[in-house]
Amino acid sequence: MCGITACIGTDESVDSLLDGLRRLEYRGYDSAGIAVKNQAGISLTKRVGEVSELVGAVERDPIDGTFGIGHTRWATHGGVTDNNAHPHTDESGRIAVVHNGIITNYQSLRSELESNGHKFESETDTEVVPHLIEENLRDGATPEEAFRAAVGRLNGTYALASIIGDEEAIFATRSGSPLVLGVGEGEYFLASDVPAFIQHTDQVVYLHDGDFIIARPSGYEVTDSGGRPVDRPLKYIEWDPETATKGGYEHFMYKEINEQPGSLRRTIHGRLNALSGGVELEEFPPGTFSDVEQVHIVGMGTSHHAGMFAASLLSERGIPAYAFMSGEYAVIKPPVTENTLVIAVTQSGETADTLDAIRRARAAGARTLALTNVVGSSITRECDDELLIRAGPEIGVAATKTFSSQVTALMLLTERFVEDITGNKSGVARDVMDSLARLPGDVQEVLDTSNAREIAEEYQDSDSYFFIGRGLAHPVALEGALKFKEISYEHAEGFAASELKHGPLALVTPMTPVFAIFTGFEDEATLSNMKEVQARGAPVVAITSDPDGEIAEFADHVLTIPETHPDVAGITANIQLQLVAYHAAKLLDRPIDKPRNLAKCVTVE
Ligand code: GLU
Repeated sequence: MCGITACIGTDESVDSLLDGLRRLEYRGYDSAGIAVKNQAGISLTKRVGEVSELVGAVERDPIDGTFGIGHTRWATHGGVTDNNAHPHTDESGRIAVVHNGIITNYQSLRSELESNGHKFESETDTEVVPHLIEENLRDGATPEEAFRAAVGRLNGTYALASIIGDEEAIFATRSGSPLVLGVGEGEYFLASDVPAFIQHTDQVVYLHDGDFIIARPSGYEVTDSGGRPVDRPLKYIEWDPETATKGGYEHFMYKEINEQPGSLRRTIHGRLNALSGGVELEEFPPGTFSDVEQVHIVGMGTSHHAGMFAASLLSERGIPAYAFMSGEYAVIKPPVTENTLVIAVTQSGETADTLDAIRRARAAGARTLALTNVVGSSITRECDDELLIRAGPEIGVAATKTFSSQVTALMLLTERFVEDITGNKSGVARDVMDSLARLPGDVQEVLDTSNAREIAEEYQDSDSYFFIGRGLAHPVALEGALKFKEISYEHAEGFAASELKHGPLALVTPMTPVFAIFTGFEDEATLSNMKEVQARGAPVVAITSDPDGEIAEFADHVLTIPETHPDVAGITANIQLQLVAYHAAKLLDRPIDKPRNLAKCVTVE
């Protein structure tokens, strides 16, 4: 959650910090603030509410400085108040700190500091940091020594950036929370994510946990906790700055839904040999997984639905596979052996529950693989192997293009597993791979022809919305309902079609439209379920590739998907459901890109 920005060597530090915070708004936050260094000391403004409130406050009462730090807070310790907003300072006001994460030992540090005479202004865990730095300075340490020694006292997770005394430098570090360095011409940026500074530079250094960064107008250094230089390569980001902005669409979410033909092409690119129909994963040559006996897939929310999809697919192909919510996995601790492969599915690569699940799996001896969208994210460093989904930046809080890319990447991985684990070299499902190769075009067809908006309009006054599907369409139903509820705030539930009679049918009325997903897998049975809900008066919207067949004949409305292999049809069906959710939320005038109470990147458990 939350976002950090920092800049030094730039012309307009205040503008640059505020602009960076705006570009990190997608991460979810409840208050925002900046601190800049000038001749007189540190000037600071912070406000509860949106970044626009902070901008207004700075316009009314301008502050200026040559470099600075900024923050969007998602409160974990202490209420949502101006006082608890970051940056935090010591009593002299000569040290300012922004922090993302949770300092678990802050209570004992705070008591110790208070008994040494320090006065605290906020209820946050973060505030111990500037006081610790101040205490070290008082003991004669240099700013760098004071910063390192303070960080050495912290337990928990943190990305930190700070201004200390009169030193023209930003001191920063990370451990368990994201932080990247942007390198421009004589100007340097630190941020939780690249979009914060992409308009200034496309040169990025991905930092690792335990790295310390000191950025000055003359350059930057990255060192370990002992001060020894560490080599972190400069990488070139290929996104054009437009990719990280709305590019003409009203909402990021709608832009991202429409980007799916391109994002899916990137996911597949170079991994699917269209001629041979074979899967060629550069990261995983044939034989990589020959020892694997079972697969566990962990993830939360949308990523969990992608994991459920893949687990069903693997089971269908004869490989023991189970999907778990990461938060539950860490609690129930399913037995693993060294021949268990645990796949962590996380868009951001920073999901706290998933990192925790992976740490436990590793400690128990399992082999681990990260499936993520974010290069250099924490999960890629925690796992033995990684496969990037390459969906590009996703700013809308509700995951869309990353779900289709996760599922597609997992399907490619499935084929590698089938070859390696079952030893069936011709095991690659040629017809499935042909359908995957056609998927970007099929998705474009859905985007060009969808009548999702009319469906959303037709049913906008309903009481609840239900989504049903069988087999691989079950996780698609769950994902359809999740998307609907998170952005429209309307009640929506997904069920396995087979479960209806065992409870959910009691909720069905003429005011509860049911979206029934037909992917060509046991459609007959789902057709019976459709008739059962219709018999209770519920209207049915069928998602099917056969607009002229029996399903369409009985359905009240149809959302058509291109004809394809049943294993792949769930992906295009999901695109229709993304569009229904989007239009329903738009009709209700919801803040689609930033739904209430939700955050893009869930870095706390
Ligand atoms: N734990 C800190 C607080 O509650 C930082 C939260 C965040 O990551 O925004 O202020």
